[in-house]
Amino acid sequence: MQIRNVVLLSHQGAGKTSLVESMLFASGAIQRLGSVADGTTTSDYDPVEIERHMGINLSLLPVQWQGMKLNIIDTPGYADFVGEARSGLRVTEGAIVAVCAASGVEVGTEQMWSEAERGNLPRFIFVNKMDRDNADFFSALKGIQSKLSPRCLPVQLPIGSQKDFQGVIDLVTMKAYIGTDSQEAEIPSTLREQAEASRDKLVEAAVEADDELINKYLEGESISNEEVFSAIRKSTVAGKLVPVFAGSALKGIGTRQVFDGVCSYLPAPEEKGAVLASNGSSGEQEEISTSSESPLAGLVFKTTADPYVGKLSYFRIYSGVISGNSQVWNASKNNMERIGQVFTMLGKNQQTVPQVAAGDIGAVAKLSVTTTGDTLCARERPVILPGIEFPKANFSMAIQPQAKSDLDKMSTVLPRICEEDPSLQTRREADTSEFIISGVGDNHLEITREKIRRKFGVEVRLDLPRIPYKETITTSTKAEYKHKKQTGGHGQYGHVLLELEPLPRGGGFEFVEKIFGGAIPQNYIPSVEKGVNEAKQEGVLAGYPVVDVSVTLYDGSFHAVDSSDIAFKIAAAQALKKGLSQGQPVLVEPVMKLTITVPDSYTGDITSDLNTKRGRVLGMNPGNGINVIEAQAPYAELLRYALNLRSLTQGRGSFVMEFDHYEEVPAHLSQKIIADKQKADKGD
Ligand code: GDP
Repeated sequence: MQIRNVVLLSHQGAGKTSLVESMLFASGAIQRLGSVADGTTTSDYDPVEIERHMGINLSLLPVQWQGMKLNIIDTPGYADFVGEARSGLRVTEGAIVAVCAASGVEVGTEQMWSEAERGNLPRFIFVNKMDRDNADFFSALKGIQSKLSPRCLPVQLPIGSQKDFQGVIDLVTMKAYIGTDSQEAEIPSTLREQAEASRDKLVEAAVEADDELINKYLEGESISNEEVFSAIRKSTVAGKLVPVFAGSALKGIGTRQVFDGVCSYLPAPEEKGAVLASNGSSGEQEEISTSSESPLAGLVFKTTADPYVGKLSYFRIYSGVISGNSQVWNASKNNMERIGQVFTMLGKNQQTVPQVAAGDIGAVAKLSVTTTGDTLCARERPVILPGIEFPKANFSMAIQPQAKSDLDKMSTVLPRICEEDPSLQTRREADTSEFIISGVGDNHLEITREKIRRKFGVEVRLDLPRIPYKETITTSTKAEYKHKKQTGGHGQYGHVLLELEPLPRGGGFEFVEKIFGGAIPQNYIPSVEKGVNEAKQEGVLAGYPVVDVSVTLYDGSFHAVDSSDIAFKIAAAQALKKGLSQGQPVLVEPVMKLTITVPDSYTGDITSDLNTKRGRVLGMNPGNGINVIEAQAPYAELLRYALNLRSLTQGRGSFVMEFDHYEEVPAHLSQKIIADKQKADKGD
């Protein structure tokens, strides 16, 4: 059976989920039409999706139409979940971009469009919601042509609009198709002229892909519908034309035409040509062509974790087959995997199949070593297919269980959640002892929090991470402390003199011993060092660790009977504290290096925003309309930078942030930080 793998892309809410639902219903794959409003669609089945009326996961919806198998992949439109869209784009040969007829091209449409451009994916546009108030096909089309590409041309025109939307005119067959059951009719006379003009434009653009046809066209010979049809297909596959369709997913008008559009205009897996993979042993590039007779090569593009069903891995086969109850080689992990049952999926429903062949998409449960992005292949031909580029996890929050007793549970849930969603990362921050979870944006983390609650029953809270401030001194000083107690029986005696000197930033902390003439016996020196090291964990300003100080033990005294390790430890700790207080202590804060990539026109906005964040621009590298800005700014100002940059650039900017160095906190800010810390410590 012929296959078409197609991904649905759009701004959040343009109607992808409703469109698939309508397609599934029209094809007979489901008997009841679900709705987004009631939370009954096949695609958005996750409880979090149902509650929020929005997709957050990609879902796979195979459907048969005119003897073909279409693997439709519905993706979330929200920018935080672009990783899911990228996974979908990576394993399909064509895309449908849905645009709302009332709102037209939105920020998310442009983002998804550029994702499809990057992936070089042939595609068409579906102008949806033609039945809605304010729906305006021609205004939407204008936006599409100016904001997305002038290559977008209608292959259909709507008949009526808003409450009067009745059907569509097909500009190839020059017939009208009315209502949900797509009754064929003549083009209404009022629209005839407009349809002919639009058809002329379409034909003119389409024939350009075909030398023979263009000559025929220029010489004024008549061109048959079949020729127009195949010219549209050729130019769509070549990316020179993007057909525009119209309809209403909710009313089921235009749905059949979308089906026909996928079958007729979008390429089959084998048309995409060979895929390049690197040989698992030699690292050399190899061509993988779509053929079930060749050795296996398949990419795992999605993993779901479910406490009941377990782990489910979705894969796309490029060559060979995956059969149930077999063994395959995971070339990314250099490990064998046992394959149990293989399935095709319809939303959340699994159907067992004997095998999944080249060009097709399926799923398998309970793989042990495999994660998203891995290549499954034949042992005798180990290959690694190009993986999926997930967005950077640039927005971090501290995560902790609401109930302290859930800490262990949370620690086991986090790796499973990350396995399911490669745009998430977790780590433990040594300096602050917090668990940090990083994702693409605030919604991403908020939804992850909810997933953890719903799927795994653990309530967690998210807070902005603590800043790992440190303390240091700015002048050299000497400090003496004598710990002496005589309370009956054995006394306590330890006496140390320390010299404290500031070190340059990044100098760390050092302890030097310079005792002459046995003022303190050697066996007590380790206790002095221990006392210093323990006391440096909590500075005198706000209890942050002390860095960039050199401490020299240069004198002291002891008592033959009363001295002890503990007495010297106490004396050393107290002397250090004294010294720190005398050395004009200051807070230092982490400063990050930022590499920000934005379209040129945003440069001014970015730099003035950095100014408000105590940032410094270090350099600019403009080129090809894109500017790469190198800058530094304190971490404390950047906790929400992922969100700031998104709203400043409407999602067109990206950045990489890494720790650079520590720097003194300006005095006016440090007072507030100290006061806040003292308040927080009291609350603990
Ligand atoms: P998605 O986020 O792109 O998957 O969009 P949904 O399918 O979830 O649709 C978002 C909202 O638009 C839902 O409330 C749908 O009922 C509504 N909607 C979808 N298609 C249509 C349509 O053709 N006409 C109208 N009037 N509403 C629609």
